[in-house]
Amino acid sequence: MSENKNIDFMDEIVNKEGMSRRDALKLMGISPIAAAAIAGTGSSTFTEAKASDAQGKIVIVGAGAGGIMAMARLRSALSNPDITIIAPNEKHLYQPGQVFMAAGEYVAEDIIKDNKDFIPDDVKWIKDEVKTFDPDNNKVILRSGEEVSYDYLVVATGLQYHYDWIDGLTEDMIGKDGISSVYLNNPEKGTVEGGSITWDWFNELREAAKTGKPKVIYTQPATPIKCGGAPQKILYLSDDYLKEAGLTAEMTFATSGGKLFGAVPAVDKMLTEHVQPRYGNITNKFGHNLVAIDAANKVATFEHKYTVKGEYDEDIEEYVMIDKVDRVEMPYDFIHIVPPMAGVDSIANSPLAWAQGSAKGWLEVDKETLQHRRYANVFGIGDICGVPKGKTGGSARHHAPIMVANLLAQMEGKKPKEAFDGYTVCPLKTQYGKIILAEFNYKGAAPSFPLAVEEPRWIWWAFDLYMLKPMYWHLMMKGLM
Ligand SMILES: Cc1cc2nc3c(=O)[nH]c(=O)nc-3n(C[C@H](O)[C@H](O)[C@H](O)COP(=O)(O)OP(=O)(O)OC[C@H]3O[C@@H](n4cnc5c(N)ncnc54)[C@H](O)[C@@H]3O)c2cc1C
Repeated sequence: MSENKNIDFMDEIVNKEGMSRRDALKLMGISPIAAAAIAGTGSSTFTEAKASDAQGKIVIVGAGAGGIMAMARLRSALSNPDITIIAPNEKHLYQPGQVFMAAGEYVAEDIIKDNKDFIPDDVKWIKDEVKTFDPDNNKVILRSGEEVSYDYLVVATGLQYHYDWIDGLTEDMIGKDGISSVYLNNPEKGTVEGGSITWDWFNELREAAKTGKPKVIYTQPATPIKCGGAPQKILYLSDDYLKEAGLTAEMTFATSGGKLFGAVPAVDKMLTEHVQPRYGNITNKFGHNLVAIDAANKVATFEHKYTVKGEYDEDIEEYVMIDKVDRVEMPYDFIHIVPPMAGVDSIANSPLAWAQGSAKGWLEVDKETLQHRRYANVFGIGDICGVPKGKTGGSARHHAPIMVANLLAQMEGKKPKEAFDGYTVCPLKTQYGKIILAEFNYKGAAPSFPLAVEEPRWIWWAFDLYMLKPMYWHLMMKGLM
């Protein structure tokens, strides 16, 4: 961004946000940093002093957001790095951009790059997938049958979608008969079909609303998901897209959760009292988990979990609460499905996974140090980590320096002491041109800027649409941020 453009951008912030120039300048402080780094592209521009002479072979599994950030930071922090990255995918997906694709703001080419642009020649890249993790023998076994040993392992495999956990649904049904899912992508093939399918779906919905009032369902599953705000982003953006054309539809948000935004009460209140009433056509069905689809008859079946008051217990002087589960059928014309998600099979079926509890199947790391709780030479980064919060690219960005510092400490025979605070960010699109930048951590709201966290703002829309993507490619993927 040129200096003049920065000034124009600042004028817009001042005008649209009613902010003082001083505050606007503070926000704009991000921009010159980004611009400077973007101007000097190429990883060779990063010449940070080497911090550690520690030795050892590091194997990183996965080359998405977390794997590439870990690699870039380790490579620059070690004076004599010995890094192998195992990843089958030639392409790198900027997955948050799939929502802007769904809204018609990006196309696929905007959010796909070649992984070779991020993996330098001095890092050994094995283009294969790990089938088996064998941490007792410090090795992994690949799809090809090859065994790769390591001194230190970084697990960055991300998670896995389970459309197959919804009866009657297969991935190839998405994009047909009113079914959409913004999440659909395939890192190995380098495709982001969920974005374009959902943009077509927005337009089919708009066409249908010209001659009737379509019934539209938006789902959110009972498992942890990456970018927990995306189900509602699609709800509000598609509703706004209708509103802009003077149209409406009967919309149901069916979520297995009990709140719109449990992590930050002020955001929950804003969504409940201001954002949803702005549309006036949204009904929330809490405690509803999609379990089956009858695509031919356009009926979705949910498991509805709720609690009722039982008998009064004289001894404890309160009513006994009874858990109930019903099956509820809902007809639809259009449905946006968010799939259940889980740790990738290769981790879930390995000794590295939590064996029980709510994190079963996810990587068993300490929620602060990101070091494996039983295998001290194994660390995690990104969505695969079985920690209470943080399945976002923003979390992976916060994992990276902490995980790297702790891995270096381990390599140097010291105790890992850096702590991840649970940082998670959700740029929740409440309409075209407005975003709530919901930042939070294990303790609650954690805004990076001195602005009310719950307020939908144009500045966050502009930041997300125009700046985050170049920052991702040119700063985060090079370990500069
Ligand atoms: C629709 C959507 C919207 C989103 N919105 C946002 C947002 O607004 N803000 C935000 O911060 N985040 C957002 N995210 C989430 C963000 O993209 C992820 O949290 C982030 O990509 C996680 O990085 P990761 O490295 O853990 O996983 P990924 O980036 O998914 O990378 C994992 C890689 O590991 C590879 N892999 C898996 N198993 C193996 C194996 N056995 N062997 C070798 N390689 C393997 C995979 O092929 C993949 O390339 C969004 C995601 C989606 C899909």
